Amino acid sequence: MTTLSDVKAALKKYWGYDEFLPLQERAIESVLHGRDSIVVLPTGGGKSICFQAPAVSLPGMAIVVSPLISLMKDQIDALTECGIPAARIDSSQPIRERDGVIERVINRELKLLYIAPERFAADGFIRFLRRVDISLIAIDEAHCVSMWGHDFRPEYRRLGRLKESFPGVAVHAYTATATEHVRRDIALQLHLKDPEVLIGSFDRPNLVYRVKRRTNTLQQVRDVLARHRNESVIIYCIRRADVDDLCAKLIRKGYRVVPYHAGMSAGDRKAAQDAFISEEVEIIVATVAFGMGIDKSNVRAVIHTGLPKSLEHYQQESGRAGRDGLEAECSLFWSGGDYGIWKSIMANTESDQAREIALSKLNGMYNYCTSLACRHRALVNYFGQDLEGGNCGACDVCLGEIGSMDGALEIAQKILSCVVRLHERFGADYTASVLSGSRDKRILERKHDQLSTYALLSDLPKNTARDWIEQLVGQGYLEKTGEFNVLHVTERGWRVLHGEEIPSLLKPADKPVRTSKVAADSWEGVDHGLFEALRGLRRELAMRRSVPAYVVFSDAALRGMARLRPSTPDAFLLVSGVGSAKAEQYGDLFLDAISRYCKEHSLPMDVATAQREPRSSKGRSTLNLARQTAYGLFAQGISVDEVARAVERAPSTVAEYLVSYIAKEGLTEPSPWVDKRSFDRIVDAVASLGSDLIGPIYRALGGEVGYDLIKISIVVLQNRKR
Ligand code: ADP
Ligand code: ZN
Repeated sequence: MTTLSDVKAALKKYWGYDEFLPLQERAIESVLHGRDSIVVLPTGGGKSICFQAPAVSLPGMAIVVSPLISLMKDQIDALTECGIPAARIDSSQPIRERDGVIERVINRELKLLYIAPERFAADGFIRFLRRVDISLIAIDEAHCVSMWGHDFRPEYRRLGRLKESFPGVAVHAYTATATEHVRRDIALQLHLKDPEVLIGSFDRPNLVYRVKRRTNTLQQVRDVLARHRNESVIIYCIRRADVDDLCAKLIRKGYRVVPYHAGMSAGDRKAAQDAFISEEVEIIVATVAFGMGIDKSNVRAVIHTGLPKSLEHYQQESGRAGRDGLEAECSLFWSGGDYGIWKSIMANTESDQAREIALSKLNGMYNYCTSLACRHRALVNYFGQDLEGGNCGACDVCLGEIGSMDGALEIAQKILSCVVRLHERFGADYTASVLSGSRDKRILERKHDQLSTYALLSDLPKNTARDWIEQLVGQGYLEKTGEFNVLHVTERGWRVLHGEEIPSLLKPADKPVRTSKVAADSWEGVDHGLFEALRGLRRELAMRRSVPAYVVFSDAALRGMARLRPSTPDAFLLVSGVGSAKAEQYGDLFLDAISRYCKEHSLPMDVATAQREPRSSKGRSTLNLARQTAYGLFAQGISVDEVARAVERAPSTVAEYLVSYIAKEGLTEPSPWVDKRSFDRIVDAVASLGSDLIGPIYRALGGEVGYDLIKISIVVLQNRKR
C-alpha cells in the first residue's frame, strides 16, 4: 500500500522538496485513501503536486484533465524535466504523435496522461482507457465546469461521465476559485461522492500590494520597473489603445517590451507570449486577455495601470506574480475616471440583476483602492477569510508608505504661490525644479533662483514636490492647460492660497519603498551576482532544450544554490528544488559555474547554515498549538466533537489529528472514538475486500459508516499488525 511517506520520498526525489506546503498533505491523503475531493488553493498554492506526487507513487497511471493545451504542455515539460514519464492527448496533435502516446499507454510506460476534455466525447476512447489501470482522475481548473465560475467551458460538462465510466477510481477537482456556489456546482456536475473539501488560505504572503492614484502612468510604471531590472513583469491596461501607447513609450525609453491584446493576430499574440515565457523580453504589456494558461512561476511584478472591474479579477490577475513563493510586487494605479469607464460599459448589460452585481463588485474594488486599511486583510476579508496578526509587513499601508501629510496646507500654499510667481507659464516638472532649488541652467538664465518661492522645498527630493503637484492637480487645485501642460491655479486653488480650504497630500515614503520581510528572508545569504550568473546559465539551457526557463530550475532553487553554494553532487541535492533527475542532468554544469564564480570572488562554499524556508510559515505555530492541545485531550479519551469545540477546529481536522495521534501512540483499541458495531463492520469489510483502502470500504458499507471512523479504525488495525 502506498503511504504518505512514500509520496514524501517521491517529493524529495523528483522535485527536490523536503516538506509539503500547507494543505498539500491532506489533499494527498484524500488521493491515497481513494476519496473524491475538491481542493481550493490560490494560484501558487501548489495544486499540481497534490495529484502529481501521488500519481508517481501509486501503481497505474493517472488521468489529468486540463482546459488548455498550453497548460498541459507546460506541466508535461516540467514533469519530464523531473524525470517523470508523462504525455498528453488532445485534438491539436498530429496523428502519429498521438499514436505514439497511445502505445506508451498500452505499454504502461506513463505515470500521468493529460487529456483535453473534448476527448471524452468518444466512447471508444473511454473504452480504451478502461483497459488501463487508472490510479486517480484529476480535474485541473475545475471551476470550468460551472456556469457560475468566470471561465465556463461546455466540454467540462461531459466530465460527469467519468464517475460512471471508471467506478472505483476517485475523482479530484482542483481550482483557485473559491465561491461556495462554484464549489457546490463542481461536486454536482462531476458527480462526486461525499467529497472531502479542502480550502486553503487565500492570502498570498509573498506578494507586496501597493495602490496609488494614477498621476503619470509612464513615470509610475518606470518607478516599479526600476525595482525589477532583468525580471519578468506583466503590465495590465484596460484598453488596447493604452497597451499600444504604453508599449511604444517604454520601447522609446529602451525597455524590452512586447504588447498583447485581442486586436493582434493569433500568430503575433503567440509570438509575444513565447518571447515573454522564454525570457527573451522581460516585460509584457497586455489587456486582461493575457494570462490564462500562463504557468510562468517567476513573474516578479504585476502592474495595473487602471482599475480592475472586481476584486475577483484583481486577485486572479495580480496572483500571476510570485507563484514560486518568492517575493513579488503587485502595484495598482487607478483614477476616478476608470470607475466612470467601467460604469458606462456596465450600463449596456442586458439584465438589471447582472448589472447590479457587476456594479457592486466594481464598488468593492473602488473601496479597496480608496481605503487605508491593510491590503492583505482587505483581500482575504472579501473572500470570507481573516488574517491572524496585525501588521502584514507587505503592503503600502502596513509598510508605512502612505498616510496624509501634516501641514499639507502650508506645503500646498508654497507650491501654488510658486506657480503664481512663475506667471502660470511653466509645467509641473519645471515648477518642481524651482521649488527644490535646482541649479539648472534654464532656471538661472531666467533668474528664477531669485524668486521668493525658489528652494522653498529644498529639504525634499524633487520627485516629492513633483508628486505633490500631481496630487494637487488630481484634487482640482491646479490645472494643466495647453499644448505644454502649463500649470494654472484654479478657483479652488485660490481658496487654498487664502487658507479657506485644506487639500490632502500624501506623505512621501521615508525610503521610496521598503523591502518586505518576505523579500529580506528570501534573499538572506544569497549572493546576487552568483544568482544572476546562474540565471544566465539557466536561460541558455532552456533555450537549447526549448522549454521555459523556470522549468529547468525555479528562481527559488537558483537562490538556494547561490546561498548554499554547493561544491559536490551530494551538497547540490540539498538545495530545495533540486531533484535527482535534474541533479544528474544539470548538476555538473551548475556545480562548475558555482565553483568558478566562488573562486573568482573568493566566496566560501558549502555554506552550512540551514537553508531558510522562503515560503511563509504563517499560521503554522498556531496549527501546532491546536494539534498539541488536541493530543492532550485525546489522552483523556475525549470525543472528536468535543475536542473540535475546544481547539476551535473543524471536526474533520480534529479527526486527522486523532489519526496521527493513534499512529504515533501505537494504540490498538478504537474506543472511545469508534463504536464496537461500526468497528466490527469495518474489520469485516477489510477482510472481504482484502484491502484497507478507505474509498472501497466506504462503498462496501453502503456509505453508512463515515470516512473519519474508517480512517481511525484502519490505523488501529495497522497498529495491531506491528
Ligand atoms: P498552483 O497550480 O496552485 O498555482 P503550482 O502547482 O504551479 O501551483 O505550484 C506553485 C510553485 O510552488 C511551483 O513553483 C512549485 O514547484 C512550488 N511548490 C509546490 N509544492 C512545493 C513544496 N512542497 N515545496 C516547495 N515548493 C513547492
Ligand atoms: Zn498590510
